[in-house]
Amino acid sequence: MGDWPASVSLREVGPRDGLQNEDPVPTADKVRLIDALSLTGVKRVEAVSFVHPKAIPQMADADEVWAAVTRNPEVRYSALVPNIRGAQRALAAGFREVEVVVSASDTHNRRNINRSTDESLDDIAELVQALHDGGSTAEVIIATSFGCPYEGDIDPARVASIVDRVVADGADRVAFGDTTGMATPLRVRDVVARVRERHPSLPVLLHFHNTRGTALANILIALELGVTEVDASVGGLGGCPYAPGASGNVASEEVVHMLHDMGISTGVDLDRLIEVARMAESIVGRELPSGVLRAGPRTRLTVQRSVVP
Ligand code: ZN
Repeated sequence: MGDWPASVSLREVGPRDGLQNEDPVPTADKVRLIDALSLTGVKRVEAVSFVHPKAIPQMADADEVWAAVTRNPEVRYSALVPNIRGAQRALAAGFREVEVVVSASDTHNRRNINRSTDESLDDIAELVQALHDGGSTAEVIIATSFGCPYEGDIDPARVASIVDRVVADGADRVAFGDTTGMATPLRVRDVVARVRERHPSLPVLLHFHNTRGTALANILIALELGVTEVDASVGGLGGCPYAPGASGNVASEEVVHMLHDMGISTGVDLDRLIEVARMAESIVGRELPSGVLRAGPRTRLTVQRSVVP
């Protein structure tokens, strides 16, 4: 058996990453979702992103959402920003944990923001500085860390060299994004083991998509490599922009369900989380892909029905 951590810090990304990849929903529903998640025992919530409304209309009301949220002092809230303007908005809104993104794939980065990975890394150096000056931590999310829909496999050495660069530029934390669900346990090991060897004390967070059914297996191997922070999305909110109809983010309740059965604590009340997943499903108006939402936890027994009329 592996050497598992006693506890895992789960970051709930449904309100931002999830809803950003769904049809737009009303502001009040976003607030309702964040507030409900804040009462599940989850300690971290990615709440909004400060992006240009033309680029991502789903997040156009980020300021309104954040102003209306009932903040739970037990919860760390974070925001994602694409550039310095977004960073200023996030700081003005009071965020003290902010994420920025760069893609390990040059093609993916160019298609998204029309810049090379190297050009984006120059921008990120400035962003990290601006966030620190404003009193916030800066996390760099490296998208397409385990594969790119345009380029295919990404060399783990390239991912590791991006980590070297952002650590040198002052990033507080690095997240590896499996943007289109191309990660497998062996590919996770290739990237994470390499990075942990070079930066043993760097906090590392993993963000998996269950597009091809490998997300929980990927999390398991990451735990065995010493990772204790993972992203997940309630209900599995957020589809895959590159494969319509496919699953996106791994569902939070599936992660919590597995971890608790392994004796790993998360602080999350699983029954409450499943209730919020049901709420998320009604908010987006489509069936979400979470197996634990459909079937309930394995400890939930079936009530025997009498067949005699
Ligand atoms: Zn995602």
